[in-house]
Amino acid sequence: MLRTHTCDQLRPEYEGQSVTLAGWVHRRRDFGNLIFIDLRDRWGLTQIVFDPDVNATAHRSAGELRNEYVVQVQGRVRRRPAGQENPALATGEIELEGHTLKILNKAKTPPFDINKEAMVDEGLRLRYRYLDLRRQRMRRNIMLRHNVVRHIRNFLSDEGFVEIETPILFKTTPEGARDYLVPSRVHPGKFYALPQSPQQLKQLIMVAGYDRYFQIARCFRDEDQRGDRQPEFTQLDMEMSFVDRDDIMALIERLMISVVKNNTDKPILREPFPRLSYAEAMARFGRDNPDIRFGMELVEINALVANSGFKVFSDTVAAGGLIKGLNAKGQGHYSRKQIDELTDFVKDFGAKGLAWLAIDPPPTPPSEGGAKGGVRSSFAKFLSPEETSAIIKQLQGEPGDLLLFVADRPAVTNEALGRLRVELGQRLNLFDPNVLAFCWVIDFPFLVWNEEEKRWDPSHHLFTAPMDDDIPLLDSDPGRARGKQYDLVLNGYEIAGGSIRIHQRDLQEKVFGLIGLDIEEAKRQFGHMVEAFEYGTPPHGGIAPGIDRLVMLLAGEPNIREVIAFPKSQSAADLMAGAPTEVNAQQLRDLHIKLDLE
Ligand code: ASP
Repeated sequence: MLRTHTCDQLRPEYEGQSVTLAGWVHRRRDFGNLIFIDLRDRWGLTQIVFDPDVNATAHRSAGELRNEYVVQVQGRVRRRPAGQENPALATGEIELEGHTLKILNKAKTPPFDINKEAMVDEGLRLRYRYLDLRRQRMRRNIMLRHNVVRHIRNFLSDEGFVEIETPILFKTTPEGARDYLVPSRVHPGKFYALPQSPQQLKQLIMVAGYDRYFQIARCFRDEDQRGDRQPEFTQLDMEMSFVDRDDIMALIERLMISVVKNNTDKPILREPFPRLSYAEAMARFGRDNPDIRFGMELVEINALVANSGFKVFSDTVAAGGLIKGLNAKGQGHYSRKQIDELTDFVKDFGAKGLAWLAIDPPPTPPSEGGAKGGVRSSFAKFLSPEETSAIIKQLQGEPGDLLLFVADRPAVTNEALGRLRVELGQRLNLFDPNVLAFCWVIDFPFLVWNEEEKRWDPSHHLFTAPMDDDIPLLDSDPGRARGKQYDLVLNGYEIAGGSIRIHQRDLQEKVFGLIGLDIEEAKRQFGHMVEAFEYGTPPHGGIAPGIDRLVMLLAGEPNIREVIAFPKSQSAADLMAGAPTEVNAQQLRDLHIKLDLE
């Protein structure tokens, strides 16, 4: 080794020892006489002092140092003079008296400061990711990720799980996104698909009898990018045999609690994790990934306004729509401008408008401010006083509160008001950002209606089983059947989804039929699955927590790029290597590809 210790290791008990450190020049302070260097490696920082009276040659070389030079320093550990200790630094009680200095590699001036946590343009950070990864915040995130994954591996191995790798070059595994395709050179005109998840293979591993499988698996989905999406991302993929829904949920719950307690000091809001049915989550939060760190829940008022004189409300009810409100407690002072801004917010999610009602404080005599009392509202003038009070009561409105309403198609009302709730929760600091609030969402509808293609789609994926009691509904009223699936939600993000699978061939074929997948096509795509199910398939189920999202939330980062070493940009490009790239004509010929399609 070119060093005897790391830059985070030396303490007062090393005083007097001769040691060698190696690392990067983090910061240099030149007082002419004395030159101070903070030397950095992955572990931490150590202060080095070059004194011409101790070693004139080393002091001279130290004068040439610039930030990010890679150096090796041999010297003697000594205590810092009294009053010059740095309690913020693990090595802050000591410093190294530099005796010899060797420059191992010079460095150009980096395009941004490594030693400051300043805001840097993300494009620049991604272009020079290897420099960005030197920064403390990224090092902390990458180390957290490593520790979380290591913890998961150990935990699951101790629980009897076997880690098995599955192929990247495979066949389409639909998870609802577009496939990434890889052309085959040896099979002209044919393509592999990169796995959207190892779903089929993990089920086949159950058919093979391995009972408990996991993999830290890379998944590929060609979909439009959003803050918490990447074209390739990592899942903890798992599958278990001879289990029901509760077994998988209980195991994941223990795993998550163990990951949090061993890798963070963040509190968990509630244990055991609360469980909500899909219907309850939609009713109370307007979303199937509810953020339960705060209240301000949505309240339906259809029955109260069905016959009211406010046409927006009564027409919505008549047309089968949904009217919901929320109570922004104590925000009755919002100005028209602020309410207009919230209206623009909900319009972005498809709502036509935002109805509002501010409850003024009770009347007071002029000597105490002269408040008039009553309400100010965009719609109350069309309602009777009884209707207005009924609404206020339903939303538990009190003087000083602001009630906000959306009336629209149910999906739009839920989406717009659900988003507004999350937005206001953040703006009004309604929760402690340090808290981790897990919850389960269960009892999802098994199928969702695809209006464009006039057919049913699986609400989860093709292999999810319907609830046993609801199997007859698949013939009579498929939309009412519930599936055996479960989502784990953390602070408003879906961090895992899974299900108990269909393990009988006839039920699987029935589901293919229901979703309009013609049996021949199903056999072409998934014949191997249907065939495998005829050779003794154990009942099985699984789940797949997203590692990137989980680590993002544990790290308190706003997007998953901050916890991925080499992420793609928002437009799915690698800004450092410049991928994707054009390829040469010979490569295209080998792959039997012509690029003349406009
Ligand atoms: N394959 C599913 C997914 O990627 C997870 C599962 O059902 O286990 O979301």
